[in-house]
Amino acid sequence: MEDKKRNDKHRSAMQKQKAKVDSHIAEASTERGVAILLTGNGKGKSSSAFGMVMRALGYGHKVAVIQFIKGQQLSGEELYLRAMCPDVYFYQMGTGFTWNTQDRSADIEAAERTWQQAQTALSDPRYNLVVLDELTYMLAYKYLEQTKILDAIKNRPIEQSVVVTGRGGGKDLKDIMDTVSEVKEIKHAFKDGIKARKGVDF
Ligand code: ATP
Ligand code: MG
Repeated sequence: MEDKKRNDKHRSAMQKQKAKVDSHIAEASTERGVAILLTGNGKGKSSSAFGMVMRALGYGHKVAVIQFIKGQQLSGEELYLRAMCPDVYFYQMGTGFTWNTQDRSADIEAAERTWQQAQTALSDPRYNLVVLDELTYMLAYKYLEQTKILDAIKNRPIEQSVVVTGRGGGKDLKDIMDTVSEVKEIKHAFKDGIKARKGVDF
């Protein structure tokens, strides 16, 4: 008897939930690409972006990935995309970015060069999905002019979606994005002395 009560209660709650979701689906009538920001201090921003790359590729969509910063460290996603997905445009800031030597003008030059790649993808309607991985740092360090970046995101082709990742990002960027998710750190293995793991962390 207890079980029946619980089951009935569950069914009624699920029906209500379904009605709510269905009405939201019915209300959504705009068909266009979305701008997504994945931010916060927890792990999962870039890997989420690459999850969307996989989704897009599943439908045969055209994808561009532009990574700001991580040029030294090879990653599984880079290895995979370069080997298996020659149609994906993949660009890394890579050499020229002298983070370690703290040569600001060389950094800015590298950031500008990389931004040119982003700009090109953001103005090409053939791209369904553009990932700007770790872009937020370029804004935080003022290596790139914010207005230029926001304008390029706002003025991209209507059907194109863009995913920006990186901690922070600032109010102006958040304002122009359609979806903003913050990955919150509860804990991270690294803080227990566990080494970054191939295929999981990079
Ligand atoms: P991922 O690429 O795993 O989705 P991310 O993009 O959210 O991570 P980044 O700040 O770009 O996070 O850091 C990339 C690398 O740093 C990954 O190896 C990730 O595991 C590690 N990392 C992410 N968050 C933390 C954290 N809070 N503390 C320590 N290391 C972290
Ligand atoms: Mg990342």
